[in-house]
Amino acid sequence: MSVIITDSCINCDTCIDECPATAIVSADDSPIVDAQYVYVKPEKCIECVDASVPKCAYVCPTEGAIVWDMPYTAEYNDYFLQGHEDGKYNIRIHKKLGIFSPEKKPKPFRESISIADREAGMEVEI
Ligand code: SF4
Ligand code: SF4
Repeated sequence: MSVIITDSCINCDTCIDECPATAIVSADDSPIVDAQYVYVKPEKCIECVDASVPKCAYVCPTEGAIVWDMPYTAEYNDYFLQGHEDGKYNIRIHKKLGIFSPEKKPKPFRESISIADREAGMEVEI
């Protein structure tokens, strides 16, 4: 996914319009069943690698609402597919191409963020 929204989110929706990858949707539009919070589409988030900071975190007023997740790359294909099956993620499925898993559609990521911090769900700081 790259970044993920936690239960600290207050659903202010401020981050939605800031995302250059249109990866964020409101709780009402979330593909997750009974979603309570804003959702980041894992197959779309690019970690704002061309910008100095992740733009969603830059505008978020709530500490701890946006945290790092694993890179959306082939190495973590199983991780995201498992999450998809568990309902944590809802990865887009194309009629012809199938599921846009990291193996099929990898995304850029910030190599400066350690895997340990990602595994720990460290807050995306700006
Ligand atoms: S890190 Fe950037 S691309 Fe990813 S959800 Fe936030 S604003 Fe969108
Ligand atoms: S800006 Fe932060 S608090 Fe507001 S909807 Fe996005 S993640 Fe939630």
